[in-house]
Amino acid sequence: MTARTSEVAGLAAYAAHAEHSRGRRHQEPESPGRTAFQRDRDRVIHSSAFRRLEYKTQVFVNHEGDLFRTRLTHSLEVAQIGRSIARQLGVNEDLVEAISLAHDLGHTPFGHAGQDALHECMKAHGGFEHNLQSLRVVDELEERYGAFNGLNLSFETREGILKHCSLENARGLGELGERFLQKRQPSLEAQIANLADEIAYNNHDIDDGLRSGLLQLSQLEDVPLFARHAKEVRAQFPDIGERRMVNETVRRMINTLIVDLASESARRIAAARPGSIEDVRQAGPLVAFSPAVRTEADALKSFLLNNLYRHFRVMRMTTKAKRIVADLFAAFYDEPRLLPLDHQARVAEDRARAIADYVAGMTDRYAMKEHQRLFAIGDA
Ligand code: MG
Repeated sequence: MTARTSEVAGLAAYAAHAEHSRGRRHQEPESPGRTAFQRDRDRVIHSSAFRRLEYKTQVFVNHEGDLFRTRLTHSLEVAQIGRSIARQLGVNEDLVEAISLAHDLGHTPFGHAGQDALHECMKAHGGFEHNLQSLRVVDELEERYGAFNGLNLSFETREGILKHCSLENARGLGELGERFLQKRQPSLEAQIANLADEIAYNNHDIDDGLRSGLLQLSQLEDVPLFARHAKEVRAQFPDIGERRMVNETVRRMINTLIVDLASESARRIAAARPGSIEDVRQAGPLVAFSPAVRTEADALKSFLLNNLYRHFRVMRMTTKAKRIVADLFAAFYDEPRLLPLDHQARVAEDRARAIADYVAGMTDRYAMKEHQRLFAIGDA
């Protein structure tokens, strides 16, 4: 059985089917052993932007500790969670995996702080959006093929990568921007990858927050989703140590979220009865948590926002990170000849965008080193 026939056998009519893909921007012959979406996933894994995710962070700076999540491990967790939901709903796991692994490729160094700073620098030049940058990485910036720029991924993978987009930018994106202008949904696979992202970061940020000492277990007793699972774990295993208790609790929270998402989405799909991916795009959001779990997940999110992302130690790091990104951008903008030669070549076309691409592509440690090289007096 070829990969393609086995895909058809397991997929619902409303799934994305690789053989009905809307295709790639540049014509290429099909791969004999892989579907279009398996091939997209493989292209993402072999990209240089994917390797750099290992040294980019979500909340913590990369050098702070070896146990914290990086964008790479985060993307792997998103892919795992996404695949598990996709299988339960009979949709295309390969596409969910490709989208999940690619979804953060455009992230700047230093997580959201770096992105906010770069957006500020780019305000007069069209702004900076990380989702759009992820698309730019796979469409333009990767240099792996003789015949074209980027990775030449399928429409459906690119549709999933572009999770959000301002209306202004959507107007310039052709068929990919249409859904934002018409307020339509992407495939179920894209909707799944989006919520798998949320499940992954909310849970691993609790884990990393406790591990770093920025969060205390007692604070989490006020977070219903954590508290109810922790209570179960303590009742079942009264004698286990704290680390094991936290891990067992977080594991159960992830499971609850996945099970709820799959069952609520199945219910919505059954009610809407989409017969094809086009019906999915026309319908309202079909992948969703139940109202009760949505409320719990929102409470967890706002807890993390107030207690972890705005913790004074994180704020100090964030402020420093913003300064590094702003300094780098300003130095290159004033004197583009400070840029490495291959990036200099693109300055004539669009100076600000060439610099944003260079800065966005940096890992945390590379940005810090580059800042030292440009600004330190004396040894650097
Ligand atoms: Mg993410």
